[in-house]
Amino acid sequence: MSPEPNLLKSLDYSVLQQCMHCGLCLPTCPTYLETRHERNSPRGRISLMRAIADGELGTTRAFAEEMDYCLGCLACMTACPAGVDYATLFEAGRAQSEASGAASGPSRRLVRAFTLRFLLFRPWALHAAARLLRLYEASGLRRLVRRSGFFSLLPKRLGEWDRQAPPIQRHFSDGIIAAVETPRGPARHRVAVLSGCIQDVAFPDVNRATVDVLLENGCAVETPRAQSCCGSLHAHNGDLETARELARRQLDSIDPGQFDAILSNSAGCGSHLKHYDRLLAGDPAYAGRAAAWSAKVRDISEWLVEIGFRRPVAPARPVAVTYHEACHLCHGQGITAQPREILRAIPGVELRECAEATMCCGSAGVYSLTQPGTSAWLRDRKVGHLRSTGAMVVATANPGCQLQIQQGFAMETGELRGRPRVVHPVVLLAEAYRAETPSRPAPP
Ligand code: SF4
Ligand code: SF4
Repeated sequence: MSPEPNLLKSLDYSVLQQCMHCGLCLPTCPTYLETRHERNSPRGRISLMRAIADGELGTTRAFAEEMDYCLGCLACMTACPAGVDYATLFEAGRAQSEASGAASGPSRRLVRAFTLRFLLFRPWALHAAARLLRLYEASGLRRLVRRSGFFSLLPKRLGEWDRQAPPIQRHFSDGIIAAVETPRGPARHRVAVLSGCIQDVAFPDVNRATVDVLLENGCAVETPRAQSCCGSLHAHNGDLETARELARRQLDSIDPGQFDAILSNSAGCGSHLKHYDRLLAGDPAYAGRAAAWSAKVRDISEWLVEIGFRRPVAPARPVAVTYHEACHLCHGQGITAQPREILRAIPGVELRECAEATMCCGSAGVYSLTQPGTSAWLRDRKVGHLRSTGAMVVATANPGCQLQIQQGFAMETGELRGRPRVVHPVVLLAEAYRAETPSRPAPP
């Protein structure tokens, strides 16, 4: 029998050693808050990882389950005074549990092969699946199947997946955005926009809005047709090899030297895209290009503030907006002020802060599918805080959060209180620019 691979052992040991066990991260950790068990805390997980790296512990099923239970929200990193790089530990820990086989079962292997290595590896496959999903919804078949009670005959999880499937739009990003678009005046910057995977099929309006605000701010925008999935879901789910393959593909099709910035409007993608340098550091053929790439990646809000975006001037009706901070924007990228600066710049917007704005909403990639109980607990907690602000618009900068919060509002019971609109901040900014010229048509 071949020895179990020890990916944690191959980590720079200083990363494993950083934790000084102070426990300051515990109150910020959602899973610790749910159970109050040390093993479900960042400190507990780091101890387990270190024990495996030291060869004192094997990679057990319990360890794999612990890594699955961790959201990867990185709230612990923000809280940690010792600068523990939990993002690296988390990815290595999940990769360890996958590589050792401790996490695997036949159905898990099948789902991972289909989603990570087929759907998210081939943009054409994702588009084809999205079109089928749209047909299923638009034809009324979905409603019929749900009413028939068909899902009660199947494993509970399948019904859950059906309920959580994102709403697919008629046109994807390439149907509403040209490959190259130029501003009305002279271009001051040249940027590439990454359209993402879920964003591309479920929220292409966010990509359209991103391009619109960039044009308004003097950027020539390229939205490369040959872009692939960024690989963030792969890295966060322990498939680092496929994540590297996708990063190489991205670097083959988009030359960072051609652009002033490479922009993402999805917090989870942006956080991963910024670390291509770390991901490909050991690949001599790509390390240089990956470093150049990482230096150019920006979140859209970060870029707009960096270039001094123009404040819209059209008069507008007052609207109360609250803001949910996507984990991989605030904890993963340290971006908290810029989205607020954008929201405050929009005429009529009154920004109302909500409690626990930086606490995970329970979306966390595929967490709502793999850990539905904890995910729903976090979602309902989040929706309660957002609701208590009284705002009828919730801004958030990640498609997973947008879906999760939308579903949370949709599932509320009781008296009708109106369903808040959940929207990316850049969509509100684009709408404010459009309002300056009422004759300008809204995008499809
Ligand atoms: S990533 Fe989130 S869930 Fe995981 S240990 Fe850190 S705070 Fe807890
Ligand atoms: S991860 Fe950081 S905050 Fe948490 S126990 Fe270790 S040193 Fe303290």
